[in-house]
Order: sequence, then C-alpha cells, then structure tokens
Amino acid sequence: VSRIGWELYEKIFKNYTRKQWGIDPSKLDASVAGRIPLRFNTDDRYFSDTFQAVPKHGFSHLFSRMLDHKNITIRLGVNYRDIKNKYSGLKTIFTGPMDEYFNYKFGPLPYRSLSFIHETHDIKQYQTAAVINYPNEKAYTRIAEFKSITGQLSERTSIALEYPQAQGEPYYPIPQPETAAIFRQYKELADRTSAVYFVGRLAAYRYYNMDQVVAQALSTFNKIVRQRPG
Ligand SMILES: Cc1cc2nc3c(=O)[nH]c(=O)nc-3n(C[C@H](O)[C@H](O)[C@H](O)COP(=O)(O)OP(=O)(O)OC[C@H]3O[C@@H](n4cnc5c(N)ncnc54)[C@H](O)[C@@H]3O)c2cc1C
Repeated sequence: VSRIGWELYEKIFKNYTRKQWGIDPSKLDASVAGRIPLRFNTDDRYFSDTFQAVPKHGFSHLFSRMLDHKNITIRLGVNYRDIKNKYSGLKTIFTGPMDEYFNYKFGPLPYRSLSFIHETHDIKQYQTAAVINYPNEKAYTRIAEFKSITGQLSERTSIALEYPQAQGEPYYPIPQPETAAIFRQYKELADRTSAVYFVGRLAAYRYYNMDQVVAQALSTFNKIVRQRPG
C-alpha cells in the first residue's frame, strides 16, 4: 500500500493475493507482495533482469542434454522415502519438502498448489499478451498463452488457466511468521544432518525463481567439492 496506494491495492492486489494464497494479504509476509515489480515505464515483462530468454529448444531439451551423461542415472516416479534406507550414508542432495524428509517431526509446512486447466483453441491467438492476470472476477488467477512466449507459429493455440488450491503438488511455500518458526526447527535439524544437502524452493522453503535455485545449486556444489578430501 505504501508503494501503490489503496486504490490500486484494492483493484489489483487484494483479491488476487487472497485467491492465490487462500489467506488475507495482512497475514502474509510482506516479502510476497514485495516480489511484484512496480514500473513506471513501458516494459511489460514480469522480471526486471537485463538478460531474459527461454532456452532455444525449450527446457525439456536443455535438461535432457544436461542429464545425458554416463555418470547420471534417472529414476522417475520413485519417492525418496521408499529408497532412503538403500542409499543412507551416501552424500544426498534433497530437493523435496524438508518437513517430508524429517517425517513431519515438527508438524507440516503448508504449501500452496495450483491446478492447470489446459485448452486448445482453433484460433490463431487467444489473448493480447502472453499472460493475463484476473485479480477479481474469476476463480482462476491467470491465463498463459504459450505461443506468445515461444514464438511458435500455428493456426491453433494452447492456453493454461491457473486455479490456486490448497491440495496437490507443493508449489509455493507460504511465508508467514508461524511457518517461518516451524521451518527454523527443521533447518536446525537439517544443519545437524551430515551428508544431506537441502537445495531448492521446497527444501529451502523460500519463494525462489529459477535463477536463484540455480545459484543455490552451484554454491552447494562448490561447498561439497571443497569438503572433498584430497
Ligand atoms: C506456476 C509457476 C510459474 C513459475 N514461473 C516462473 C518463472 O516465470 N520464472 C522463474 O524463474 N521461476 C518460475 N517459477 C519458479 C520455478 O518453477 C522454481 O524456481 C523452480 O522450479 C524451483 O526448482 P527446484 O528444483 O527447487 O524445485 P522443483 O522444480 O519443484 O523440483 C523439485 C523436484 O523434487 C521432486 N520431489 C519432491 N519430493 C520428492 C520426494 N520425496 N522424492 C522424490 N522426488 C521428490 C519433485 O517431484 C520435483 O521434481 C514458477 C513456479 C510456478 C509454480
């Protein structure tokens, strides 16, 4: 409110925040609204980074190439819980929720989830921007139209509507003083757990973007390498 005044807050932020997080904005940590950029120029992109791009051939291609190495084995659809004992004692990098790792010892950490409804339309363009937000009148928070991001040319178009929900795959940690207190307990335990590194948005219980997660991963890697004997 101090940055934009009550009118814009009421029209844009208030209901969107309630919908996205399922709680009143006053109950959320100020860092949540603080993430949303305010600009007084014509740059309509979400992020303010100097260099912004999507990988030339998409993220799937990028990751398949990075993971295509003889030292890397990928096992999908396996919950860490089920193989924990088999690999105990080995150096582990855990990117799941920290409360889950410790079997909810200090209680569950709440996460917000989303349901994506995908639609394909027999029209060239569905909307006038890559992402349009619906703060007030709809149950969904936003609609993304992917061809506006990738530059793909097609007679048809695919969109995704995002419906926030409490249940489902954990996406967003919910930053509040209560949840920070629970996380601190897990963090202390994690710091005392040797050979396990907690990395990423779920394990750090922080609303990280991709670049921040990559930076954290690289710094953890450097830490592990420094600890290596010899
Ligand atoms: C709707 C949405 C839009 C976003 N848009 C952007 C954006 O435009 N730009 C940007 O920079 N960031 C964006 N982000 C954030 C970005 O997705 C995250 O920063 C990034 O995915 C975090 O990477 P991560 O590896 O920490 O976690 P994740 O990508 O969540 O990966 C964690 C992995 O661990 C697995 N896992 C969890 N628990 C277990 C377990 N017990 N056993 C085995 N595996 C497990 C999960 O299945 C998952 O594959 C967006 C996020 C969402 C939800």
